[in-house]
Amino acid sequence: MFVFAAPQQASLAVQGSTDRFPVRRIFCVGRNYEAHAREMGKDPTREAPFFFTKPADAALDTPCTIAYPKLTNDLHHEIELVIAIHKGGSDIAEADVMDHVWGAAVGLDMTRRDLQAEAKKMGRPWDWGKAFDRSAPIGPIKPIAQVPSVENGRIWLAVNGETRQDADIADLIWSVREHIAILSQAVDIAPGDIIMTGTPAGVGAVVPGDVITGGVDGIGELQVTIGERA
Ligand code: MN
Repeated sequence: MFVFAAPQQASLAVQGSTDRFPVRRIFCVGRNYEAHAREMGKDPTREAPFFFTKPADAALDTPCTIAYPKLTNDLHHEIELVIAIHKGGSDIAEADVMDHVWGAAVGLDMTRRDLQAEAKKMGRPWDWGKAFDRSAPIGPIKPIAQVPSVENGRIWLAVNGETRQDADIADLIWSVREHIAILSQAVDIAPGDIIMTGTPAGVGAVVPGDVITGGVDGIGELQVTIGERA
């Protein structure tokens, strides 16, 4: 028995089903597209992939409205390909990574950019910039057998219908196979883990009332409305 009712299992919708995908952890890849690394002032050619995390219950279904979060005046959108894991493992070979993948989706790595910038400057953790409540709206997960490719396809985002991010997942510096193999060298991958694979160039601010749309061709789309301040 728990001393009080256990928290509800975090989960995400699945395309074409009422079943839900139980979320264990959210791993995110930093700076995984060259043009985005450059816009953040970094040299994309020299850096091994690095990771940060969000709490599992930061994930939420789309379409949704999220309140403009606390503490920030510079809330940014980052559109990302999302990979959902159903089979655990460690030191996974690149050739075996797809055996661990249950499905794929499109998601938003919402970022309090001002808090992230302050953390970078002060040498502090990124958590307050990245790992806040409702910071990972994600579209319904598509089973991998129905996904044409996690290696190429247009990835895009628009705010109020105006395109802000437009790239191709073929431009990932570290592909899905590569970065999940490397992630599994650092932690034991487990069923329910999801990986947000990084955002292309064109990140920018949103304000209350904005409507974000985005997608990855062949995988899915999402819509998120920014509400009033929490
Ligand atoms: Mn990101």
